[in-house]
Amino acid sequence: MVDQLERARYAVALTGAGVSTESGIPDFRSPEIGLWAQVNPLEVASVDGFLSNPQRFYEFWKWRFAKLTEAKPNVTHKVLASLEAQGKLKAVITQNIDGLHRKAGSERVIEVHGNYARGVCVDCRRVYAIEDVFVKVEQSGVPRCDGCDGLLKPDVVLFGELLPPAFSEAEREAARCDLLLVLGSSLEVYPVAGLVPRAKHSGARVVIISRDPTEFDHIADPVIHARLGPVMRRLTERLGLE
Ligand code: ZN
Repeated sequence: MVDQLERARYAVALTGAGVSTESGIPDFRSPEIGLWAQVNPLEVASVDGFLSNPQRFYEFWKWRFAKLTEAKPNVTHKVLASLEAQGKLKAVITQNIDGLHRKAGSERVIEVHGNYARGVCVDCRRVYAIEDVFVKVEQSGVPRCDGCDGLLKPDVVLFGELLPPAFSEAEREAARCDLLLVLGSSLEVYPVAGLVPRAKHSGARVVIISRDPTEFDHIADPVIHARLGPVMRRLTERLGLE
């Protein structure tokens, strides 16, 4: 992977839940270790579930969001931030909502599933800090917009929702890059997974590092099935990063 990085003129990373699990954030979509084990995801993670019972939604997410606030970037976040600072990496496209890439120092972060730290009014789109949303939850169970009394929703993409405008930017980056590093994503969620063949068809080299096999392993070179931490630490040494 060092060779690919050194040869690349426009490298872009695509990161998934596997990048965050090493910061202690559970994989929200893994049936075994994920938090879906005890709950029906459609009730607490779909837009219909949210709209039909926002109180239940917020009860479920309250301490989980508090945990995201405490999480710290790990070696993968730091390596990507260093690569960007050196001009080797042009953007990070992430499916994660935890904001850890920015905390690590990455500047060009395209959050295709949103960011938990913001809340947004579903009617007038006014933006709130998530802390303020949770203050309203404490006060009245269901948080409402100061301007229009609309329902406030965390600015993350729930099941059943369209992706934000940031996704168009991600598509442009996928078409433009000459190296796509896929890190910690099982590539099961569309349309994000479609960025990988998109990059490949535009002539990019694809590198996949993921614990589990993915649908696109056959178009990647190399594919490394391993935990990210050890791989990224070796990369740090070989590239002489901090
Ligand atoms: Zn509003």
